[in-house]
Order: sequence, then C-alpha cells, then structure tokens
Amino acid sequence: PNLPSRCTWHLGVSADKSPHVHLPPRKRPEKVVPNILNMIGNTPLVKINNISKTFGVKCELYAKCEFFNAGGSVKDRIALREFFNADTVLEPCMYCLYCIPAGIGLALAAAVKGYRCIIVMPEKMSMEKVNILRALGAEIVRTPTSASFDAPESHIGVAQRLNQEIPNSHILDQYRNPSNPIAHYDGTAEEIIAQCDGPVDMVVAGAGTGGTISGLARKLKEKYPNIKVVAVDPEGSDLAEPEELNKTDTNFYEVEGIGYDFVPTVLDRQVVDKWYKSTDRETFLMARKLIREEGLLCGGSSGSAMAAAVQCAKDLKEGQRCVVILPDSIRNYMSKHLSDDWMSERNLLEKTSEGAEMNKPW
Ligand code: PMP
Repeated sequence: PNLPSRCTWHLGVSADKSPHVHLPPRKRPEKVVPNILNMIGNTPLVKINNISKTFGVKCELYAKCEFFNAGGSVKDRIALREFFNADTVLEPCMYCLYCIPAGIGLALAAAVKGYRCIIVMPEKMSMEKVNILRALGAEIVRTPTSASFDAPESHIGVAQRLNQEIPNSHILDQYRNPSNPIAHYDGTAEEIIAQCDGPVDMVVAGAGTGGTISGLARKLKEKYPNIKVVAVDPEGSDLAEPEELNKTDTNFYEVEGIGYDFVPTVLDRQVVDKWYKSTDRETFLMARKLIREEGLLCGGSSGSAMAAAVQCAKDLKEGQRCVVILPDSIRNYMSKHLSDDWMSERNLLEKTSEGAEMNKPW
C-alpha cells in the first residue's frame, strides 16, 4: 500500500536514471589460479591519509598490506619459499616442525601440499592463531613464554627435540634459513620498487626474526642508496642497537611477532639506520587507529611499525616517500587489542602525560 518508495523506486530504472552511483564491475587481472598458494605476494601498497594528517607527516606514507596474503601474513612468503626449496630435497610426505610464532603460512602450504605439519609455539600466542592452525590440520605444541631461547623447554628447544625423535622430519628454521630474507629481497622489496613512482626515502618494519627488514633493506639500498631503514623493536626486547636502547625494567611485552631475547642469524643489523623502541600502548592504540581511520584490518605489530613511522617520517619533506610494512591481520587478535576490556585490563586505553609531551594522541 503506502509504503515509502525509497527502497524500491529505482528498481527497473536504467542505470543513467538511477539515483545511485553505478560503477563498472571491478576487473580482476587473475584468471583461475592452480591453488591458493598463488595468492601469496603482490600485496597492495595503500596510501595513509588521516593518520598522516593527525601526526603532521608531510611526506607520502604508504602501507604495504601483508594481510592480503592467502594465509593473512607476511610470513606466507617465507613458507612458500621454503617449501619451494625443500621440495627439491625432501620426500613429499615429510614431517614439518616449525619453531616460529606465525606458522599459519606454513600450515596453509602444508595443507595444500599434503604434508604433516607440527607447529611449536609459545603460550603467549593468541587462541585465534591456534584455532586457525588446527583448522589447517597442523598439530600444535605449546611451550612456556618465559623460557629463554636456549632452554630445552623453549619453542626452539622443543622443536629440536621433536626433530630428533620423529623420523624423516625437517625443521624450517626461520632464524637461520636464508630463504627468509631472500623472500623479501626478491619479493616484497621488488614489489615496492614497482609500486612506487619514484625513489623510496624511508622504509619501516618490525623485527622478529629480522628477515623482513634485512631482505627489504638490502634490495632497497641497492636501488636507492640514500634510503633510511628504520627497524622497530618492542620495549623489553634485545634486538635494537645501540645496546642502551634495550635497557628497561621489564622483558615482557604483549605485541606478538616482533622482538626477541637473542639476535637471530638472519637479522642483519648493519643495514638498519635507526632502531625505534615501541611501547605496547602506542602499538595497540595505533593498530586500532589503522582500523578506525584507514580501514586497514591489521594486527598489533602493524601498530608498532606505524607508530615508529609517524615519528621518523616527520624528518621527510613533501613529495618524499615512506613505506611501512603491516605484517598481519586483526583476524589473529580478535580477543586481544580489538577488545576494550582487554585494553582496559592492561591500562592501555588511558591517555598519559608522556603521550601529550611526545605529541601523540594518547
Ligand atoms: N609481525 C608479525 C605479526 C609477525 O608474525 C612477524 C614474524 N615474526 C613479524 C612482524 C616480523 O617479521 P620478521 O620475522 O621477518 O622480522
């Protein structure tokens, strides 16, 4: 009868008479891909707009959105690369032990290729990650977060023990395996060079194994010798240089995927020009800001990298470019920094005088 016509009146009206803006269908360049592993790499580089304004960043700030990888993280690139290498030397039905927190890419590749996959990971890692890994068919072994890297009960120690116990098993060791930085040297860095119309003046990435920052920095420095490389290390971790930067009262930090109590072999600290120590507060508030103001559904360590970038990129002028790596997706942390309760319990929501002094909105 007399229903308001708003929701139906354009039906049957041709597009040129419709009140709505009509767009042509989006063209997808890819045809059918042989399997999902083909959707690893070629991630988008997205301009940051609102956050740049808030922090007075004049240069162009771009986010390399690694959560667009098939498994949702920068680590997918390494898994793919290592499987590619391992394929040539191992029987297809191998056992795979992995001693790195973000094993989703590896479990994904193992699922597609039909390998058995065991992930050894510290208790600290989120339930979301564990559930995704289980869904991908990985077997999970949890280890105490407090165990130091060389303790037999640490994730590395347990992975090594299992490796000895399980016949035909193989550890894909991200801390020492050169395919880790090479995946970024050949892949991530080349993509950034192709995506930017002109030189890159600064690149910012968090350091866990250090594979991302080392591979990126080497290739980008070859291409743009004046580029400034900023590595991000959470307060409580020991990766930064000079050593004094690492002095704090605590060795605990909530952010996942970055920071260590030892310097991994693949981390080449010589290619880093500046280390930035991030706090959990700026990490998670910035991660929430990236979602709220830029629509980028990224995880916690993305917040650390962006918090560093907005401070360091203040030295750059209009027309210069800074690229920030956003390593993974909020999907892995739905019960963590997305939750106001989780944030409040850790006193991460209140503003501090330190924040005001440092020209940070928290
Ligand atoms: N962020 C997250 C969420 C990660 O899982 C990792 C990998 N540990 C990193 C950042 C750091 O990457 P990389 O190991 O290459 O230093």
